[in-house]
Amino acid sequence: MGTGHLTIDLNAVVANWRALDAMTSVETGAVVKADGYGLGSDKVAAALARAGARRFFVASAEEGAKVRTAVGPEPKVHVFSGHMAGDTETILGQNLIPMLNSIDQLTRHFEALPGHSFGIQLDTGMNRLGMEWNEWAAVAPMVLAQSPDLVMSHLACADEPDHPMNAYQLDLFHQMTDGIGVKRSLSATGGILLGPDYHFDVCRPGVGLYGGMPFAQAKPVVKLDLPVVQVRDLEEGEVVGYSNTWQAERPSRVATVSGGYADGLLRSLSSRGRLWAGSIPCPLIGRVSMDLITVDVTDLDEVPDMLSILCPTQTVDDLADLGSTIGYEILTSLGGRYHRRYIQS
Ligand SMILES: *Cc1c(COP(=O)(O)O)cnc(C)c1O
Repeated sequence: MGTGHLTIDLNAVVANWRALDAMTSVETGAVVKADGYGLGSDKVAAALARAGARRFFVASAEEGAKVRTAVGPEPKVHVFSGHMAGDTETILGQNLIPMLNSIDQLTRHFEALPGHSFGIQLDTGMNRLGMEWNEWAAVAPMVLAQSPDLVMSHLACADEPDHPMNAYQLDLFHQMTDGIGVKRSLSATGGILLGPDYHFDVCRPGVGLYGGMPFAQAKPVVKLDLPVVQVRDLEEGEVVGYSNTWQAERPSRVATVSGGYADGLLRSLSSRGRLWAGSIPCPLIGRVSMDLITVDVTDLDEVPDMLSILCPTQTVDDLADLGSTIGYEILTSLGGRYHRRYIQS
């Protein structure tokens, strides 16, 4: 097989969900947007539903339809983008809960689907999604009379525990929602780690489920092994790859490995990435190209059939650091060409 092997450990996803759930005394949902952070929202959601998750969150109604098919009729499926024009049929047919973000969305929802469940998203300072203070004050009595399923907001700086924005948003969320008699949700992975003041009734972790920071105790979920296509010996002074960015400073052995930026191996890993032959690191040399990377394997006694780029010694966050990005982007960039294998007991 000429393409990389991506192994996704659903047992680890379930263990991470249980560990996050155990950090709170409230309900824990699961965010499976962007196709389950690139790992397959159907597989991830089905595994978590079997483990007891009763609420899932996605970005769009289309994503919600895929999750609904995977989890069956019982669990709640919330849509962060709310009720967009054109979504009515999907929201109704798949029994999704749109998290309404604006007065326009409220109007659209109540006109198109009166009596259908909905949630509310409030802006507490991130200025991305949700109703602001004045809008909420104007419509809250009317909205609350319709019994929303969940009222939520989102923290902008939860991965920095000492950031003053956290306490500011918490205070505003209290002021906007205390006494409303509706379930409330404020925290994603980072907020869970901020402690019980931030937990309210429902937490909604995403990245921590998939083994990413800021959940430092997460079990790794993905392993990515890339096949070696060919190996060649270079003399001192020879160059490798586009634009000749690497030159051998000693007689060298170079492996050409299947996988490139079209597979989510970011071009910013050029000359900075690292692959692993078991416990031995091998530098990624030269430019990352579309389908291939080149690796200095001079120090290996024997070149294996595959080199690992994600493994227990190099997590998604380690690779993200090497490529100057975040674990979320490494995960959601994982390409469609890999041979995917799911581990599940
Ligand atoms: C993506 C997202 C989450 C999950 O965040 P993580 O940092 O991945 O845990 C929760 N809530 C909202 C509104 C989001 O957009």
